[in-house]
Amino acid sequence: MEFDACMKHKLVRKSVREFAETELGPIAHEIDQEARFPIEVVEKMGPLNFFGLQAPKEYGGAGIDSISYAIVIEEISRVSGSLGLCLTVHNSVGISPILKYGTPKQKERFVTRLASGECIGAFCLTEANAGSDAGGVETHAVFTGGQYVINGTKIFVTNGGVCSLPLIFAITDPQANPGRNASVFIMEKDMPGFAVGEIEDLCGMRANPVSSLFFEDCRVGPENLLGREGDGLKIGLDALDTGRIGIGAQAVGIAQAAYEASVKYSRERQQFKKPISSFQSIQNMLADMATEIDAARLLVYRASARKDSGRPFGKEASMAKLYASATASRVTGKAVQIHGGYGYSKEYDVERYFRDAKVTEIYEGTSEIQRMVISRAILAEPV
Ligand SMILES: Cc1cc2nc3c(=O)[nH]c(=O)nc-3n(C[C@H](O)[C@H](O)[C@H](O)COP(=O)(O)OP(=O)(O)OC[C@H]3O[C@@H](n4cnc5c(N)ncnc54)[C@H](O)[C@@H]3O)c2cc1C
Repeated sequence: MEFDACMKHKLVRKSVREFAETELGPIAHEIDQEARFPIEVVEKMGPLNFFGLQAPKEYGGAGIDSISYAIVIEEISRVSGSLGLCLTVHNSVGISPILKYGTPKQKERFVTRLASGECIGAFCLTEANAGSDAGGVETHAVFTGGQYVINGTKIFVTNGGVCSLPLIFAITDPQANPGRNASVFIMEKDMPGFAVGEIEDLCGMRANPVSSLFFEDCRVGPENLLGREGDGLKIGLDALDTGRIGIGAQAVGIAQAAYEASVKYSRERQQFKKPISSFQSIQNMLADMATEIDAARLLVYRASARKDSGRPFGKEASMAKLYASATASRVTGKAVQIHGGYGYSKEYDVERYFRDAKVTEIYEGTSEIQRMVISRAILAEPV
């Protein structure tokens, strides 16, 4: 049984790596430079089930386990962090809340369109005054005439420029306490009052169209409310537990790419009439990079395995995200160092990895917030 699972995971890695290197490899540098979402590749990914990785087969998904999911995200991110981001947000925080809290009708209506790649998902929590503190959400939904009227602005929405079924968080009961005052709505792009803002000019993840979304008197029926009124925070925190496995996997993929480039470069680059890989300080960096990447990957797999076995995995997902994102930053920094001046030039991919890595320490909860989540879980455990 374990052997079978291991073979299955190896096959997933092999086939996704082949796809990523063939389809994304040749354009990964260019789409970053041009800040272009590669729709031509995304269109090929739909029929291959990349957009319904963990959705059940009855909704058109691939229904893969969480370790396979982490491998897919890692392998895509190894080639393009921006596409890895698109996929992980769509599959985890975009779809998983509908699968967990949606009615059968909502799953049929929305998950099938998301899983096929016909629609791209998004998760819209952040606002100008609500970042780490989700309690600061000001977007509100007022129930009147049998519909919710939504007003507000969401910022830094991953996939913002291309999403057509984003989930948004809005206050439905301003009088309730912050844990019970928000709800989640499944929005549809063609709803009157829904508008997409400018694409953000970001440091990294430049091929992902991260943008603001505006809602002005946007009307949705109760059939677009996810879960019950007041469930917003619970749904959001649940979704982020799953999401953090994906961001951890994304960070591992970016770090892996930087490490492989560094091994190759250190063998080729000659100084003092020797390859720089013969210098102990370079060897030490490579050894640290390899060790940390392995540790990060194992943390991601542990959180994934716990999720699949039905055990609590929130603390483990936060640990994986915290460690993997710090690893990605450290490893990509070392990769630039190993490449010397060339590493600081856009001619080499390590510069892109370095920029892409940083944000894994910021989104889906900053590293400071992960430490809060982890320490709260530790202190809630029996002595
Ligand atoms: C490329 C990109 C994509 C994103 N995609 C999405 C998305 O799809 N959906 C979405 O909803 N959001 C998204 N975000 C937003 C992201 O989740 C937030 O930027 C993040 O949660 C931090 O919020 P903030 O930027 O407002 O920082 P702040 O919350 O203002 O934090 C600023 C600093 O203060 C620290 N801090 C804050 N509170 C505490 C505390 N209690 N204790 C200790 N330190 C604290 C933080 O760790 C950070 O260092 C994205 C952001 C980026 C850059």
